[in-house]
Amino acid sequence: MQIHGLRALDDNYIWLLQHDKTAWVVDPGDATVVLTALENLGLHLHGILITHHHYDHTQGVTDLLDHLGPMPVYGPVNSRFDAIDQPLKEGDRLALEGWILNVLQTPGHTLDHISFVNSQAAFTGDTLFTAGCGRLFEGTAEQMAASLKKLRTLPDDTLVYCGHEYTWANIHFAARAEPDNPDILTRMAQTIANYKQGQPCVPAPMGLEKATNPFLRFDHAPLRQTLLERGAEETDASLFATLRAWKDNLDATGELEPKR
Ligand SMILES: [Zn+2]
Repeated sequence: MQIHGLRALDDNYIWLLQHDKTAWVVDPGDATVVLTALENLGLHLHGILITHHHYDHTQGVTDLLDHLGPMPVYGPVNSRFDAIDQPLKEGDRLALEGWILNVLQTPGHTLDHISFVNSQAAFTGDTLFTAGCGRLFEGTAEQMAASLKKLRTLPDDTLVYCGHEYTWANIHFAARAEPDNPDILTRMAQTIANYKQGQPCVPAPMGLEKATNPFLRFDHAPLRQTLLERGAEETDASLFATLRAWKDNLDATGELEPKR
């Protein structure tokens, strides 16, 4: 399977999966971007995969169906996005011309959130980002912590394809959360270089996420100790919530963003 990253809206990634002349799309927040790519690559779209109901991941679906005709729309069984006609839950498997994707329920950012994973690729939507994770809009810290711990069991060479390009702010937060982690400093330098050259930082291997993403490391020393000192209790939910709130407060100041 060949995977094309399409930039859409402000900072979204739409993932276009290609096998010969057949394609599937993950989280089409913008139909025009997808239709243009299909035409340029000479592909036929056979299905749409949805990780969660947010408009920036779904608002292209109706236009794609209008332009291209009916096709399966796969998504969470408990989603409020009503164009899904192939509802999926934990443990379900999706076969795209023999390329199997397993469905993991990964609530926290939203209650309906699922991820599509196999040993090569993980489409994590707004649950796991490169060097970060999604905000808690509907779920609890306990749910999100469990979702992230589920994702961190994936092999180190699985590539993480997430829903947004937030790597800059995420890795700058990581450097504050774990200032003595040399892997974070290396990744920060690489991220800055990529942004300067207009290069994407997604996908990234799961092994790099495990080494540098604080939201996969909240229960490990030394970050765990830092969070306890910031008032966390000794539970995953409290450790995670303390870390998430720390980043939310910094996000609100704008200081993690690149200077424009
Ligand atoms: Zn979202």
